[in-house]
Amino acid sequence: MSKPVRVRFAPSPTGPLHIGGVRTALYNYLFARKMGGKMLLRIEDTDQNRFVPGAEEYIVEALHWAGIVIDEGQGVGGPHAPYRQSERRAIYQKEAQRLVDEGKAYYAFDTAEELDAMRQRLEAANAPAAQYNSITRMQMRNSLTLKADEVKARIDAGDPYVIRLKTPRKEEVRLNDLIRGWVNVHSSAIDDKVLLKSDGLPTYHLANIVDDHLMEITHVIRGEEWLPSAPLHVLLYRYLGWEDTMPQFAHLPLLLKPEGNGKLSKRDADLGGFPIFPLQWTDPVTGVVAKGFREEGYLPEATINFLALLGWNPGTEQELFTMDELIASFDLTQVHKAGARFDIQKAQWFNHQYIRLRPDAELAPTVQQQAEAAGFDCPPEKAEKIVSLLKGRINFAHEIFTEAATIFNAPTTYDEAIAAAKWNDDAVRAVTAFRDALQAYDGPFMADDIKHTLGDAMTQAGIKQGKIMQAMRLALTGTGAGPDLMLTMEIIGKDETVGRLETALNTLKTAVK
Ligand code: GLU
Repeated sequence: MSKPVRVRFAPSPTGPLHIGGVRTALYNYLFARKMGGKMLLRIEDTDQNRFVPGAEEYIVEALHWAGIVIDEGQGVGGPHAPYRQSERRAIYQKEAQRLVDEGKAYYAFDTAEELDAMRQRLEAANAPAAQYNSITRMQMRNSLTLKADEVKARIDAGDPYVIRLKTPRKEEVRLNDLIRGWVNVHSSAIDDKVLLKSDGLPTYHLANIVDDHLMEITHVIRGEEWLPSAPLHVLLYRYLGWEDTMPQFAHLPLLLKPEGNGKLSKRDADLGGFPIFPLQWTDPVTGVVAKGFREEGYLPEATINFLALLGWNPGTEQELFTMDELIASFDLTQVHKAGARFDIQKAQWFNHQYIRLRPDAELAPTVQQQAEAAGFDCPPEKAEKIVSLLKGRINFAHEIFTEAATIFNAPTTYDEAIAAAKWNDDAVRAVTAFRDALQAYDGPFMADDIKHTLGDAMTQAGIKQGKIMQAMRLALTGTGAGPDLMLTMEIIGKDETVGRLETALNTLKTAVK
């Protein structure tokens, strides 16, 4: 029997989570659920210089908003706690030391100046890559070139040192990426990466491999930017003696700029006026606020649906998926290699679809708040009716109030072209007859009742209703097109309807030829 699937999302708390990070988390989650496995959250905070306060809380909140459920890890707990790497240093130190003891890693004492000098020397000699590797290490100050007693003396004296991987000179490193297929690299192309820094903390590479092993991760699903590091990681598994249980790799395609060329950046988002973070983020140092999908009015289910299809699709025409449907159809091996163009209009389209599906009562408070803030009376029943009338016409909940302008405000001007074309004698007779009929009517004022009253009034006046409806709308809203007129009248109420018809008759008189 194969091992139970365990995947992890392993962000570094260096700022707000990029929307691409949410997609990575989502693909991990979909895969875990599909395989009946577990989804872990691990916080990779070993780079103290890049630590940003609030970023971890932001990540947890963003995943929660998106509906990505963490089974084990930071904030949830589990058998492999702690899940924050800064709290696991002894574990990494032990493994780094083991590598040194086994001759697979070494201490290096070079100062920043010495490393610079090496780089300059190599560059001057036109060496292909100026790096610390199986050749250059023999000219540097490390436990391979210094005598054992000097190494010991330096360490005892508290000299700063790092532990570097002793990369083999001639070895093939191969990995079979689930999305990209075989990747072959020669070890000479891999440098002697630092594994443990002078502050005693591991680098990403060491911590990541040690944790994925100890946390029994079966599949590493992450962004394409980590593909170049994957051969180094395979080498580390080999050196640590864990190659047999090495996870499988799947490197996800990049998110591309809206034009399709190059990697999507914060700058593209700023230029395009769209968010690139799931939630709004206030920089703790500068106070600069960056937009969030949530605050811009994107629904989580729309955002998730949009992200799921950036780099994968089930090969059918279906575009709308609930999370459960995504889980049922997701297939990691069908993820594309090519980058996925980030088209914010598509995200808006998804939002439009999901707004339509939202219950009216859920969207009503947004309208009510906006209306009341603008000084209008808008009880919940009215707000709900407005939502039901307009939610199919907008992309975001906050646009409903704007779309409802003609409901909240009686017209002060009338569309001139429509007035010229439609405000004629018949129109005046129709509006007059309808106003009179409404004044005489005192039954319930619902769309259906209004429709009958209008129908009867037009029959009595001998006017074809189809011919005067645009004029009627003009009288009521000042415009020539809009949502269902009967419902509009129901919402604005009888008195307001009569008042508007009256005003139109007085104001538009002069337009009649
Ligand atoms: N901490 C790494 C990151 O930020 C994780 C990469 C990985 O998943 O291995 O993105």
